[in-house]
Amino acid sequence: MPATALEQIVSLAKRRGFVFPSSAIYGGLGSTWDYGPLGVELKNNVKRAWWRSVVHERDDMEGLDAAILMNRLVWKYSGHEATFSDPMTDCRSCKARPRADHVFAAQKGREPKGLAEINAAIGAKELKCPKCGSTDLTEARPFNLMFKTTVGAVDTGDDAGLAYLRPETAQGIFVNFNNVLDTMRRKLPFGVAQIGKAFRNEITPGNFTFRTREFEQMEIEYFVRPGEDEAAHQMWIDTRTKWYAELGLRPENLKQREQTRDELAHYAKRCVDLEYKFPMGWSELEGIANRADFDLQAHSRGPSNPDSLVELRYFDQEQKKHITPYVIEPSAGADRATLAFLCDAYDESLVKEPPAEEVAKLKELVASFARSVEKRDAKQMEPDVKARLVGAAETIMAGLPGTLPELLALGDDEGANRIEVFKKVRGVADKLGDDYTRTVLRLHPRLAPVKAAVFPLKKNEPRLVELARTIKKNLQAAGVRAVYDDTGAIGKLYRRQDEIGTPFCVTVDFQSLEDGTVTLRDRDTMGQERAKHGELPAALAQKV
Ligand code: ATP
Repeated sequence: MPATALEQIVSLAKRRGFVFPSSAIYGGLGSTWDYGPLGVELKNNVKRAWWRSVVHERDDMEGLDAAILMNRLVWKYSGHEATFSDPMTDCRSCKARPRADHVFAAQKGREPKGLAEINAAIGAKELKCPKCGSTDLTEARPFNLMFKTTVGAVDTGDDAGLAYLRPETAQGIFVNFNNVLDTMRRKLPFGVAQIGKAFRNEITPGNFTFRTREFEQMEIEYFVRPGEDEAAHQMWIDTRTKWYAELGLRPENLKQREQTRDELAHYAKRCVDLEYKFPMGWSELEGIANRADFDLQAHSRGPSNPDSLVELRYFDQEQKKHITPYVIEPSAGADRATLAFLCDAYDESLVKEPPAEEVAKLKELVASFARSVEKRDAKQMEPDVKARLVGAAETIMAGLPGTLPELLALGDDEGANRIEVFKKVRGVADKLGDDYTRTVLRLHPRLAPVKAAVFPLKKNEPRLVELARTIKKNLQAAGVRAVYDDTGAIGKLYRRQDEIGTPFCVTVDFQSLEDGTVTLRDRDTMGQERAKHGELPAALAQKV
């Protein structure tokens, strides 16, 4: 069963060292996360796979790593100082501060045309606070999303040292257009790829690492002759969709969504979002836009930009004149992609039937949990939480023991944990879960944080330990990320590796000492075969 709630992923991520809440020992900082030992490997693998696919495996791309801090004028002429903002409204009744464009879209069923249309609707009392339902909303105001900082030892209170933490990596590419063109002697079409941190003071961060204030982008600016832009745009839409699919995202969870005219930025000719079906619903994974010549024009010296020192142009040999290339921008998020791969890989299932009397006991406990939820009045529990928990309990009771994974997922639900009897439900469910269910991350081997785990059958048998450690070392030397583990029985070690997505496990036993073969176990088929350990490094290196 794939993940049905983001909580399952959050819980696994925390339990197994993928992602931790940031600065948790001081109570945390809302919506900021730290990648742990396995998370950093996974995210690095995502970034590496992207770089390999869009830079190394192509002949028309270069890489770049621009600074996060840039001259403030970059953000003036890119338009971010004036327009990179979200419209906010305040509810005078309950003091909530929702995004006014989201309120408009949810209640009117379409995107607003601009601030004026939102405010007309607020003035006519057509919009309601999504929290309390009041129509007493303040006029929507733009809230700039860029984080400000001060550069140098000047803090004079004016804007002398003002700089921004970049809200996107793209501008670093545009302002380096001439540098890349001149040093790499490129001809159109060509592109520049960059991976790096971006910062946005998001008003409504959330959904784990889906929307945070500090995140990493993987962006491409692909420069083409005007007229060749539409075909290039389609090429990137196809190429990027294929990338996600080849790395294992299920086709039914990935789709292309054409942005409507209302959504399009004023300079964009066309934009297609790649969306993934996250547990909270279809959401943007990557945006692929045709930005025409907007950015290179905006940063070129001319009547509307007296501050730039250069013109960002290209001398077209065929036409014997300077032109401003059009640009196609596939803009992805490394954190969002990592989250999508995690969600898609998550698989929890019942491996064998637990005894009938234990199932009956669990059913009884779930029934008493449902009764306890039903007794809560609106003050004790929000009606939507109550309805959700009662619904979940009914579905689970009807399907036990097959619904044991759903019940375990409920263990991460804050509402359920507020009910006293749920502690007992959890106790029994966790025990059955340990004995009868299996959680596997079916990550593509190229993305898996650990590719192979090597175990000695007995940890107190020095010859087995030594051979297992040697095999681990040889795998590592061949570029196959491997770990050695002897901290449990083999079955338990397999389960642990399944849960973090390790595609191969290698067990060294007494036969290994005699004939040099080991047991090679496959995560997905659970099939086991004898293989010569001397051949493993080359064989596994090819697969990962
Ligand atoms: P959204 O509509 O979700 O706010 P956006 O359209 O503003 O995203 P872009 O400016 O196109 O996003 O950024 C490109 C990519 O960067 C997004 O597709 C997403 O993968 C990633 N991204 C943007 N904002 C965030 C964020 N706050 N947290 C994590 N990733 C983000």
